[in-house]
Amino acid sequence: MLKIANRVSSLKSSSIMEISAKAAQLKVQGHEVISLAAGEPDFNTPEAIQAAATVAMKEGITKYSPAPGFQVLREAVAKMVTHENGFPVEPEEVLITSGAKHGLYLALQCLVDPGEAVLIPTPAWVSYRPMIELAGASVIPLPLYEEDGYRPNVDRWKGMAIPPNAKGMIINSPNNPTGVVYSREELVKLTGWALQRNLWIISDEIYEKILYDNLTHTSVAALGPEAKKSTITISGFSKSYAMTGWRLGWSIAEKSFVSKMAALQSQSNSHVTSFVQWAALTACNLDPTIGAAMVSEFDNRRKYCMERLDKLSNYLTYTRPTGAFYIFINLSKWLVPHKMSDLDFCKELLDREYVGVVPGSSFGKENSIRISYATSIDNLKKAFDRIEAYLKRG
Ligand code: PMP
Ligand code: GLU
Repeated sequence: MLKIANRVSSLKSSSIMEISAKAAQLKVQGHEVISLAAGEPDFNTPEAIQAAATVAMKEGITKYSPAPGFQVLREAVAKMVTHENGFPVEPEEVLITSGAKHGLYLALQCLVDPGEAVLIPTPAWVSYRPMIELAGASVIPLPLYEEDGYRPNVDRWKGMAIPPNAKGMIINSPNNPTGVVYSREELVKLTGWALQRNLWIISDEIYEKILYDNLTHTSVAALGPEAKKSTITISGFSKSYAMTGWRLGWSIAEKSFVSKMAALQSQSNSHVTSFVQWAALTACNLDPTIGAAMVSEFDNRRKYCMERLDKLSNYLTYTRPTGAFYIFINLSKWLVPHKMSDLDFCKELLDREYVGVVPGSSFGKENSIRISYATSIDNLKKAFDRIEAYLKRG
């Protein structure tokens, strides 16, 4: 038997991916499964982007590309971010990555030394912790509270002893799993708190274009030169352009840091698939009404879910989301008297009702669940009918 390296001995697959895979398996077995687990747009990638990939393949963009990405694409991303996010970006400050996820992985490998610690406002997305632990470091959760609407409130952390090995912090707005969008003032405070402690910041802005209620996005790096110097901005095409399967993202940081991430990319996956990068040029210049139509449809679904949840207030509470496509639901009112964990609840819901949702404990918050509403209203209706029946049955 092969001996597994200590580094990965306790590593598990993404719980979200696992639940999604189980839901898909049940579907293959003939069950009518509705998965509100993985957060990915149900729309197909816009046609102009699909066509651009086909043309690129026909034209022979099928060979290796430079490890940091095609220069034209780095230029296009730099131009787009400079224009849309309000901070100046040069092409050499951009790295094209295999999704935002691999950007995060490369950034953490290049930032974190064994024995260090990274602070994460929690609940937080499932993959941050394993990536940090793979780099030999540990996570210090900074608790966010439902009564604060899961908004960052640095005063809450006043009494916390932050050890000297804490070197960085991950900020994620719009947030997964809560759907909360931090205001500029909150980001100023949060970033100031981190900079005072000499922390680097990873700002995961993958949901930056999925906003409701006329909100606008604030990039951490746009908060001033000090913030920009200490920040690695992570984003990508997956969510805003319905391109999750293409594996296409970008990271932005100072040039010397980007070169190191590019070196690691060149020694591991080489680069993002060439014709995929080429199609991204079309995505960067896509008619904005296409993205806006998707967001407007997500908004209809968000409102539908909130209507349904409002009717279940005897059993749960939830935080009103204003970005991304998730709702974080506190099920303590139901789970505690039933002496059931959120994990068992999710298992039963899938096994008995064929509805896939993710346990809050996967995000570091027990007695909760996360639903993704990136699916049709028809599916959402069926899913809520089943969830409601399950909760009422007791
Ligand atoms: N960050 C967060 C908060 C996410 O939810 C996800 C999941 N898509 C990612 C990063 C990774 O995105 P990508 O699909 O571009 O790798
Ligand atoms: N990020 C998505 C989610 O949170 C997809 C799952 C994953 O990347 O692990 O649902």
